[in-house]
Amino acid sequence: MSFKDKIPPALREAIDLLSMIPSYGERSAGRFLYNLLKLDKEERIKIAGVIMEAVEKLRNCKECFIVTDKDLCDICGDSKRNKRFICVVEESQDAYAIEKLGRYTGVYHVLLGRISPLEGISPQDLTIDKLLERIEKYNVKEVILATNPNVEGEATANYIGGLILKRFPTVKVTRTSYGLQFGSLIELSDEVSLEKSIENRKELK
Ligand SMILES: [Zn+2]
Repeated sequence: MSFKDKIPPALREAIDLLSMIPSYGERSAGRFLYNLLKLDKEERIKIAGVIMEAVEKLRNCKECFIVTDKDLCDICGDSKRNKRFICVVEESQDAYAIEKLGRYTGVYHVLLGRISPLEGISPQDLTIDKLLERIEKYNVKEVILATNPNVEGEATANYIGGLILKRFPTVKVTRTSYGLQFGSLIELSDEVSLEKSIENRKELK
């Protein structure tokens, strides 16, 4: 009898399913559940209900892949946003962090990850094809590569930047410059550093 056979089936099943979430393993799944079970039953049911609602309502925008509750997100659907400027980010939370600054008037493109050979994530797993399609469709003027300032983010920006310049030589491709510490994450950076990193972006040639 293995350890897993000794835990209640309901718990085992929950851990197995939660482990399917990207970047979640059995340990984080277990930690989530054990901590959840410290709450009152009423609170637990409320949380489960909220997750259920989110799962039903939320999806990725068909154009930019940001998490939204519509087929086309509010940003893509806003006629005032300039579709000729695309800011490329790894995850929806990065786009929302930039959006919070209230200065950027272009649109976003969420890659849904970053190139990471260690985690088995290759360019084909990201939304790069759709990005290239949008660049062509909207005759894009500038693509701002705002992936995270760490090894994977840098590699992802270089890969995509090279691809764009090869296919669309007239498009301006820029990379956010980081006064942000190398190895940090966009979603955790303070607003001043984030704003500076976008303002001082450098052109890739
Ligand atoms: Zn969108």
